[in-house]
Amino acid sequence: DPTKHADWEIAEEAESRMKTVYQLAEELGMEKEELLPHGHYVAKLDYRKILDRLKDKPDGKYVDVTAISPTPLGEGKSTCAMGLVQGLGKRGKSVIGAIRQPSGGPTMNIKGSAAGGGLAQCIPLTPFSLGLTGDINAIMNAHNLGMVALTSRMQHEANYTDEILAKRGLKRLDIHPKKVEFGWIIDFCAQALRNITIGLGGKMDGFTMQSKFAIAVSSEIMAILSIATDLKDMRERIGRIVVAYDKQDRPITTADLEVDGAMTAWMVDAINPNLMQTLEGQPVLVHAGPFANIAIGQSSVIADRVGLKLADYNVTESGFGADIGFEKFWNLKCRYSGLKPNCAVVVATIRALKCHGGAPIPVPGKPMPEEYTKENVGWVEEGCKNLLHHIETVKKAGINPVVCINAFYTDTDNEIKAVRRLCEAAGARVALSRHWEHGGEGALEFADAVVDACEEPNDFKFLYDLDTPLSKRIELIVKEVYGGDGVSYSPEAAAKLKRIEADPDMKEMGTCMVKTHLSLSHDPNLKGVPKGWTLPIRDILTYKGAGFVVPVAGAISLMPGTASDPAYRRIDVDVDTGRVKGLF
Ligand code: ADP
Repeated sequence: DPTKHADWEIAEEAESRMKTVYQLAEELGMEKEELLPHGHYVAKLDYRKILDRLKDKPDGKYVDVTAISPTPLGEGKSTCAMGLVQGLGKRGKSVIGAIRQPSGGPTMNIKGSAAGGGLAQCIPLTPFSLGLTGDINAIMNAHNLGMVALTSRMQHEANYTDEILAKRGLKRLDIHPKKVEFGWIIDFCAQALRNITIGLGGKMDGFTMQSKFAIAVSSEIMAILSIATDLKDMRERIGRIVVAYDKQDRPITTADLEVDGAMTAWMVDAINPNLMQTLEGQPVLVHAGPFANIAIGQSSVIADRVGLKLADYNVTESGFGADIGFEKFWNLKCRYSGLKPNCAVVVATIRALKCHGGAPIPVPGKPMPEEYTKENVGWVEEGCKNLLHHIETVKKAGINPVVCINAFYTDTDNEIKAVRRLCEAAGARVALSRHWEHGGEGALEFADAVVDACEEPNDFKFLYDLDTPLSKRIELIVKEVYGGDGVSYSPEAAAKLKRIEADPDMKEMGTCMVKTHLSLSHDPNLKGVPKGWTLPIRDILTYKGAGFVVPVAGAISLMPGTASDPAYRRIDVDVDTGRVKGLF
């Protein structure tokens, strides 16, 4: 009973009878050598062998799970993704999930892991939450190796003459110390590392300069893992990463530092997706990372391609609301993969609708305000404006939205009826789902709605063509997806915009917005559908390797902070059994 037991207790109980990866592989019709076990309950899959063997098999249906603008607590996207996989499983469908590996930042901070919750989870929970098969470690090593190459090169160029450099086969790169774009990464929320000075000490202790850390999952290497189609594509993308500019303002890449091959070497295992399972034994692929506000935040193209071959339904997940997660799924990920979704689920909770309708914003770690446990149809109706806005966004992509009301046991019938009425009037399918309380059995209406939506034809189309100039693209995203009036640029961002628009190499690059997930606008406090606002672009980053231009809106940081009552206070180990307690 999820009302009485914590997520980790439910997971632990189910783990005592979960399937081995050998069983899962057999059920998926896989060949023995396609499975690369990491213990008995987690495996990597050799994507190349699978895609090669099944190249002539038609793809299954492609379902993306997105949401309304969430509260800081999350609205159960991962929980709904797992619930949908379990519901489709209960209906006897061949189904697989494709979700993202959680970051150590939120797992140890406030939000917890992203395995789902209640009776809809991905297991085994401990490896899922604590590093899995090491993909994020590989990303950290690959990324930080690039920084080692950059900073040591700067020191050597400062200490040695051209002649000495030439003896080592090196040509001076003349890196501008104030134009170093790359920083270090760590997978925790470490605000103290946002702005740092490195190279203190003597001349053998490195080049002294300002530097920075970002959270690992926002790394360009993670973006590359999300969108790479194979190892060759990954190798080429890693070599194009721009780490700095020289004193003539020319870009310096990882290839210029001759570190791109070694960086890719750290990633050869990470490119294979991880196989896990739901609480009810359906297969789940876990690959790439979260944070659609500050990163691409999508499960990987490789995992989706494998899932679409191995099952009739592949349920993938894109982070946060349809304004950022789904927008990136639509205009970036699907553009790179060439895959077309059959339907998109928009997850809504009564609590988030109330929050958009005027109830006080819940604070993670504090008790829910009592407004959330008492019926208030007015707030729910008012909050539906945010939901209807996201439904329209999905429709602009030309695909069929299915609204999933992720039921909490405190929701009332009248509140749910109001959501159904307003969504149906807007032409969206609506399903109430009780997977958190009842598992797959509680998700049958939801699963049926998704099956129906997948049978309908759709007209998937991008919001912009790649020949649309960057400024016009940003304006389209702001007006069509966020509902704002326009865009403003800081002087720094305006200068970068000019440079990017003048560079023919940049034409083919996608646009990956960085914006808060807590509002359609850049201001996390503006709920519902804010009107009459302009999106301030503070900076524009260039991820030449991933192939994105990254406009950064508002005050958001690429390194979140750890709060005063973080989850790690409640996580511990049973020293007799080695079991981990307290994860959620
Ligand atoms: P998201 O993917 O949108 O960030 P999650 O699926 O991680 O959200 O869920 C956020 C939290 O809310 C988790 O702790 C989960 O257990 C809890 N949760 C999700 N759905 C429900 C529900 N229907 N009832 C109660 N708690 C839920």
